[in-house]
Amino acid sequence: MPAIAEQEWLKGFLDFFFPPLCLGCGKYYEDEDSICEACFQKIEEFAHPLCLNCDSIVPGQSQCPICLKDSALLYVYADYRPPLKEIVINFKFRGITSPAKTFARLLASKFEKQFADLNAQAIVPIPLHAARKNQRGYNQAELLARELASLTNMEIADNILYRHKRRRPQARLKLEKRKDNVAGVFTAVKGEKEIKRVLLVDDVVTTGATVLEAKKCLEQNGYTVVGIVAIAHGLL
Ligand SMILES: [Zn+2]
Ligand SMILES: [Zn+2]
Repeated sequence: MPAIAEQEWLKGFLDFFFPPLCLGCGKYYEDEDSICEACFQKIEEFAHPLCLNCDSIVPGQSQCPICLKDSALLYVYADYRPPLKEIVINFKFRGITSPAKTFARLLASKFEKQFADLNAQAIVPIPLHAARKNQRGYNQAELLARELASLTNMEIADNILYRHKRRRPQARLKLEKRKDNVAGVFTAVKGEKEIKRVLLVDDVVTTGATVLEAKKCLEQNGYTVVGIVAIAHGLL
């Protein structure tokens, strides 16, 4: 272990060349979340889960009163707008992984009661295609799912859902094309007895086409998707 003085010197040196910056606004800011207070305050939190199937807000229930067994409840932290959008882009594309911890903590406390009531046995991250994961070096949804699993004492199941076709990134497509673009991209291993009820996790949900396709694939293979968790939701 280097002496304290040496550690401080090293920190000063690193801060000079790589200053700690807020992931939302880019201003100098140092704390473990790397999100300054002004940015945190601008993040527009959603008060309740919403159903991706019919777009209704569903307070206080674990099923959508309109869709019932077809419910696709999204437990999401906030609206996908700046500065949250900038934070998520840093997380997704620029190798900055601290938002996994930050938003897992915020989601686990925001939906503590709902997650306990859902009684899921495992958390399943939306997979990236293997080639894309290799290129990026990590799957941000998987990092978030891992942190969330450890905070909620659920198992992480990253070996039941696979993305076997590589498609164009959804963000570049018009809304109506997104559903076709993801049709049939996932495969799932048949449900085993010990894991039946699962929570799906993604970083951002826009139209919901990707997570609904993953849900369909898991359900065709014997799982029940009891909810979908994401950091942000919106079409921006
Ligand atoms: Zn900021
Ligand atoms: Zn609904």
